[in-house]
Amino acid sequence: MERKRIYLSSPTMHGKEQEYVKEAFDTNWVAPLGPNVNGFEKELAEYAGISHAAALDSGTAAIHLSLKLAGVQEGDVVFVPTLTFSATCNPVVYEKALPVFIDSEEETWNMSPEALERAFEKYPNPKAVIVVHLYGTPAKLDEIMEICRKHNTVMIEDAAESLGSTYKGKQTGTFGKFGIYSFNGNKIITTSGGGMLVSEDGEMIQRARFLSTQARDPARHYQHSQIGYNYRMSNVTAGIGRGQLLSLEEHKRKKKGIYERYKEAFSDIKEITMNPLHPDGDANCWLSCMTIDKGCSVTKDMVLDALEAENIECRPIWKPMHLQPVFAGYDFITLCENGESVAEDIFNRGVCLPSDIKNTEEDMERIIRIIRELYV
Ligand SMILES: *Cc1c(COP(=O)(O)O)cnc(C)c1O
Repeated sequence: MERKRIYLSSPTMHGKEQEYVKEAFDTNWVAPLGPNVNGFEKELAEYAGISHAAALDSGTAAIHLSLKLAGVQEGDVVFVPTLTFSATCNPVVYEKALPVFIDSEEETWNMSPEALERAFEKYPNPKAVIVVHLYGTPAKLDEIMEICRKHNTVMIEDAAESLGSTYKGKQTGTFGKFGIYSFNGNKIITTSGGGMLVSEDGEMIQRARFLSTQARDPARHYQHSQIGYNYRMSNVTAGIGRGQLLSLEEHKRKKKGIYERYKEAFSDIKEITMNPLHPDGDANCWLSCMTIDKGCSVTKDMVLDALEAENIECRPIWKPMHLQPVFAGYDFITLCENGESVAEDIFNRGVCLPSDIKNTEEDMERIIRIIRELYV
């Protein structure tokens, strides 16, 4: 008999989403604009505690527009963490700018402030720094913001994975000049696909809306003096988002519960360490991850193989960007003199565990048993 499939992180709908979508259909607002788009922007901005938000059709689009708004142009340097999903840095290349990859630190797995300082020594005038809060754990924001301030450089927060996570009581995504969220299918809340660009700067957000709707100048005819994009979120999609937002806190609570469950279950296996949480943060625990100690006879691939054989979805940690063939030509800044960088070490030893909030206690027991069996 085929064993029940367990997912890494799949969409969880509650029914309220359908009411907003139905309203869009009933009122014939099946267009890129409409009351759900405005409502979703307002409600998300309120939740995050920021003044302005523009709903877009992906987190990647939000990163792309944030770079345009930050004035990034061909040949400019942009610092990005190496340990992330490619969507963080692809838009840098869309603009023919140059990503420079920064190593992680061990305490949060995010951009190392020390490596960032070193990057500024080598490239004194980057156009922007993109910070990522990997798997929902906030980066060392105080240290990174201080460095960006000192060098007068724009900080963009890729909070695609960390919606709902806070740092010193404030939502991630609201610390930088720009913040971005993603509502892709696997994220903590989803619109099937979508994103949001947020900022305290209302003019910038207005400009993002302009650029995302083909940059139409105010004229009766179609007039354009700039290149625009078709990046706006649809009113139907935004309806899903408004419904999902009502369950974000519940999703976060459940994700944290999953993390705690794994931590407790593996507490007696000294070779397993759960992904770090920032002491000054409250993480949304989007994905629970574990690393296997160096020198342990159980390897990352053994864990992945064992889970996959039982129809359980799992993944390695993101493969660092400086190791990707497509980014091989770009620079990488690390403090490690030789051998493995911190990011590569995490990649070599790390596994993303199933973190689907629909997992039952039985599912959790199954996952935990399969992993524990490798160690006895
Ligand atoms: C998911 C994700 C994105 C991209 O978001 P999309 O909405 O899928 O375009 C960007 N950065 C990180 C770190 C992500 O995990």
